[in-house]
Amino acid sequence: MSRAAGVEQGVNRRQFLALGWFPWLHPRHISLAGARFRILRNGHSNRRYLRIHGNEETARQVLERHMETHDGIAYVIESRVRTVVLQSLQLDPNRMFSRVGAEANLRMLNPGVAPERVRSALDVLERGREKLVHALTPPRGGLTVAMHNNGPGYSVADESESSDQTSLREPGNPHAFFLCTAPLDFEVLKTSPYNVVLQQHGPKQDDGSLSRLAVARGFRYVNLEVAAGQSERQREMLNWLEWYLR
Ligand SMILES: [Zn+2]
Repeated sequence: MSRAAGVEQGVNRRQFLALGWFPWLHPRHISLAGARFRILRNGHSNRRYLRIHGNEETARQVLERHMETHDGIAYVIESRVRTVVLQSLQLDPNRMFSRVGAEANLRMLNPGVAPERVRSALDVLERGREKLVHALTPPRGGLTVAMHNNGPGYSVADESESSDQTSLREPGNPHAFFLCTAPLDFEVLKTSPYNVVLQQHGPKQDDGSLSRLAVARGFRYVNLEVAAGQSERQREMLNWLEWYLR
């Protein structure tokens, strides 16, 4: 066997093992507590995508279409409402990535709830969290992109105070912005015509969001926010990110 053939065979074997000729190794769903995500795979890349709020319909549509033409793995929550139900308690799924953040959110969304019910719900999260976190963490050097939509009550102005740097190229449209956790990504994103904030450290209080977890674990993460219904704008910004953020 020539050296070239040996190398080629090695690559093929690796590809064979990594690329999923074993459908039973590739589940179609992943769940944590009451949050169940459909898994969309296309080709092979170190990009991961997430739509975590069930009521953010624009983000779902844009992401699902995006995955038809871009490589990576997307996790799309199967729900039409914002919160999930965990042991009959309401929970914001983007607050379940730390115990302290989930606890604060459970107390806020379930006023007067007994402490032991909160503890029991937190224990359920604790047991299942790592599996979901592993799925949402990009491979080394990769990037996780979370797609969100907002309403009148939330904009880039709410993030400025907890941000390390901000670049507001489009101050008249504060609902559309990138939130990133890696300084190098901020350097690229700030050359876009869009608003961008860097949260390399984040606020002192851990709110249990995936962006805080990304900071804690040191992986690259970008939130892409636009107002609900602005699918063209979200598509445009996602395409900008794909083109320029390597
Ligand atoms: Zn959201």
